[in-house]
Amino acid sequence: MESNIIFDSFNRQSTIVKRYGFKEKNVKTILNKSKENRSIFLGDYSLNPYLGCSFNCNYCYINGSKYADSTNSFFIKSNAPDILRTQLKKKAKNRQRAVILIGSATDPYIDIERELFLTRDILKVINRFKFPVHIVTKSDLILRDIDILEKINQNSILPDDIGNLKSKVLVTFSFSTLDEKIANLFEKSAPNIKRRIKAMKTLKNKKFLVGVSLMPLLPYISDTEVAIDEILAKFKDIGCDYLFGGSLTLFGDSANDSKTKYYNLIKEHFPDVLDKTKKLFDNKEYPNLSYQNKIYKRLATCSEKYGIKNSII
Ligand code: SF4
Repeated sequence: MESNIIFDSFNRQSTIVKRYGFKEKNVKTILNKSKENRSIFLGDYSLNPYLGCSFNCNYCYINGSKYADSTNSFFIKSNAPDILRTQLKKKAKNRQRAVILIGSATDPYIDIERELFLTRDILKVINRFKFPVHIVTKSDLILRDIDILEKINQNSILPDDIGNLKSKVLVTFSFSTLDEKIANLFEKSAPNIKRRIKAMKTLKNKKFLVGVSLMPLLPYISDTEVAIDEILAKFKDIGCDYLFGGSLTLFGDSANDSKTKYYNLIKEHFPDVLDKTKKLFDNKEYPNLSYQNKIYKRLATCSEKYGIKNSII
């Protein structure tokens, strides 16, 4: 009987994976240690249930970078919950505490998750071993998992050096603009702005820590003083707990690479800023340092104006 149930669930997973055009992959490890994530995202380990992100944002730096799959395929990490169980069991036994950052490279709530429940299964394992989580997403599908997030918030144990946090569940929603028309050009497969904001409000009401990542701000489109002011005024209104942002990163020069795709879209819809944008990058992956500093300063000044924290702690 039990073998039938396992077989059925295996078949169900394979059918969903094929229907969404994904492939399956078994991984040896699912937790990646990162010092950088601790300083910005408060994550000691990052975890990505999927490889490749079907939201397919036009500016997604993964495309053209060393992190992209050379065949442009999307994968599910089929054995992620099992591997995580082994890894967290060991850490919990050794009293190693850590914040797990989910969604550092790909969104954990892409469309296939609606049927596959891979991120949900991962959250169940995290709850079982009492680890706090920080989830980064553009999707309101996260609301489906509020029941587990509440348990994580009640049960999990923070690392000693973090001190007190209002919640042991952090959710950061990612935006590049608050203009639906612009978002529809650059992020057309992701849930729209209205849905993301509604989800933020719901999660705030559940007393989780809810913040915003403005990564990337789009040069000469959503990075102007006026645009940043409007964005921060909106998030102040919602009561977001923290906000951080950054400039655009673009890789590659093949047809599917982020730099090519971004420049093509700018050429079509914002021709006036094409040359200025190219000049900022000067054939590099990042805009020049003085631009980056200007954007950070703009964000810092505006955050101060609205009393929004620029970091989680
Ligand atoms: S949601 Fe994030 S990871 Fe997914 S395509 Fe967009 S930028 Fe890339």
